[in-house]
Amino acid sequence: MLREIGRDFCARGWVLGTSGNFSAVLSRQPLRLAITASGASKGDIRLSDLLTIGPDGRAVGKPAGKSTGRPSAEAHLHVTVVRTRHASAVLHTHSVWSTMLSELHGSRGGLAIGGFEMLKGLEGVATHQHSEWLPILENDQDIRGLARRVQATLEKFPAAHGFLLRGHGLYTWGDNLAQARRHVEIFEFLLETTGRMESHS
Ligand SMILES: [Zn+2]
Repeated sequence: MLREIGRDFCARGWVLGTSGNFSAVLSRQPLRLAITASGASKGDIRLSDLLTIGPDGRAVGKPAGKSTGRPSAEAHLHVTVVRTRHASAVLHTHSVWSTMLSELHGSRGGLAIGGFEMLKGLEGVATHQHSEWLPILENDQDIRGLARRVQATLEKFPAAHGFLLRGHGLYTWGDNLAQARRHVEIFEFLLETTGRMESHS
């Protein structure tokens, strides 16, 4: 399914040029995630592009196939989301709209999205009158420091279904890969709609 998601997201321009990363929980005791290797082309994910990582974000065991890859530095963010949200899958994209809106709204620390029927695609949301607060964090190459800020943000906004890294992209998650995929599709729709409306106002 990761392969199909990668092909689909790449075709939509959300994970171009090896950007983005995907993970799914394999076990919780001990914590093990399957995650795309650093530099893997998301439009053509092969078995050898998938690694197993432990709670410290490092690869454990023998990689699948002939992989010589290493986990993305952002593996720490995946582990943080899995632990803080009890998510079973985490998907991260680098789309044009998430990048633009994270810059335009970054100084406010987040973006409120309300009034759209498509909000009902977010788990637990039953009405278009819902207001979704999408937190925006400053991007940082110090991933451990960023992971601590992600954890604090998720604890501060327990209803959030995702967050943006400024100038970087979207993180969202789900109870399974299908739900996480749906959340990416919903957020990308909402971000593009919001961005297009802002550019016309
Ligand atoms: Zn990224």
